[in-house]
Amino acid sequence: MKKPVAAAAAGAAAALAGAVAVRTMRFKPGPEPDAPTTPDRVRIDGQKAVDDLAAMIRCRTVSNRDHSAENEGEFERFRGLLRERFPAVHGNCSLQRVGRCGLLYHWKGTEGGPATVLMAHYDVVPAEESGWTHPPFGGVVEDGVLYGRGALDTKVTLCGCLEAAEQLIGSGFTPRRDVYFAFSGEEEIAGPSAADIVCELERRGVEPSLVLDEGGAVVQGVFPGLKRPCALIGTAEKGQMQLELSMKSSGGHASAPPRHTIAGELARAAARIEAHPFPFRLTPPAAELLDTLGRHSTWPVRLVMANLWLFKPLLSLATALMGGELNALVRTTCAVTQMSGSPASNVLPPEASVGLNVRMICSDSAESAERRIHSVIRNRDIRLRRGPCAEPSPVSETGECEGWLRLTDAVRRTWPEAIVSPYLMLAASDSRHYGRISRRVYRFCPLELTGAERAGIHGNDEHIPAHKIVKCAEFYARLLSSC
Ligand SMILES: [Zn+2]
Repeated sequence: MKKPVAAAAAGAAAALAGAVAVRTMRFKPGPEPDAPTTPDRVRIDGQKAVDDLAAMIRCRTVSNRDHSAENEGEFERFRGLLRERFPAVHGNCSLQRVGRCGLLYHWKGTEGGPATVLMAHYDVVPAEESGWTHPPFGGVVEDGVLYGRGALDTKVTLCGCLEAAEQLIGSGFTPRRDVYFAFSGEEEIAGPSAADIVCELERRGVEPSLVLDEGGAVVQGVFPGLKRPCALIGTAEKGQMQLELSMKSSGGHASAPPRHTIAGELARAAARIEAHPFPFRLTPPAAELLDTLGRHSTWPVRLVMANLWLFKPLLSLATALMGGELNALVRTTCAVTQMSGSPASNVLPPEASVGLNVRMICSDSAESAERRIHSVIRNRDIRLRRGPCAEPSPVSETGECEGWLRLTDAVRRTWPEAIVSPYLMLAASDSRHYGRISRRVYRFCPLELTGAERAGIHGNDEHIPAHKIVKCAEFYARLLSSC
């Protein structure tokens, strides 16, 4: 009787291996879109673009939740600089100040129809001068590299949009459909500018066919087995929630403690949370990313990505054990970030708390994530209190959607060597407010960024090579030409 069973098992294994091999062989990149046939007439004045961005960096537009600590004069100087440096834009577009520091430019199209909204922000985070090799607000160019706070985040894209529009207007171009430039002056402090601008667009009845904000970029070496650069376009962003777990006790002296103190109970809850990661889920942006990049990868990665039906449990386990970006892409994460207990070592804590930072993928909500954490900690005496929270953004359309096609066409024309792929943005951006008026909200920063350049964002020595400033403006010119 044993022989037939062994033969059947061997047969099944062979069939399985065969199916895996066939799927892997068929898992190839689709045909690349045809090369653009229309001539590229983009001509950006490179020296002007670099000078303009350097001048923008020299305005110390550091935002602060306490507005009295902001230098309002510097914000005003920045807005004056835009009028002075981009006369054609200011002559052809209407400008409305929205809220305290939001700027909404409207470039009217010849035919109307769904509009394009290009977003950026002109406030920056503070810079600790002592850690920089060049003054953070000096706008210094050395060896073809421009240094300064905001060089990447995001004065460069604001500059790029206006540089492109200025050049296009100068060459006699008018878009067919409306274009809006929506600039916030309080993004870094989560101020209401962007939300206020969305209200204003809603009031005007604008339903954009394309909204573009900061997010992904053209990057290299971020996916296993892949050498080509990837243009990663965020089609959704995770939600986030602060959650506090707390307990109270009657306190007392630590010389005769109970078996468990409330600090101990909370530590146990934190350990349970870490030991029980949220379930693995391939939401559309993550699935599209793995599918697109997996097809271009080397064979072991391709084998796994082509056969997720088989390897899902393995991938789930591996990502949960590794943590990091890949893990954050495929599940809701919960980081234990704060802890507090007794003020003295010999006093039992009368109160103790643990702070959690939860980032939800789009199949979860603040409600469902809280429910799961509650069931995982298995302690009814622990009180859960929800702090500030933002639900996950809706997922934007890809495929044959017109806004996506126009965007990816401009990306391919600017970086022909790059693989273009949707992805899930792990951080939060102002663009999430636009989910209310458009299903075509994309998060992409038109820059090819190295690891060192990415480290400068919110860090020391933020910098950008001059040729990338020009390429960024060229990208916007291509995108605007299709409006
Ligand atoms: Zn920032």
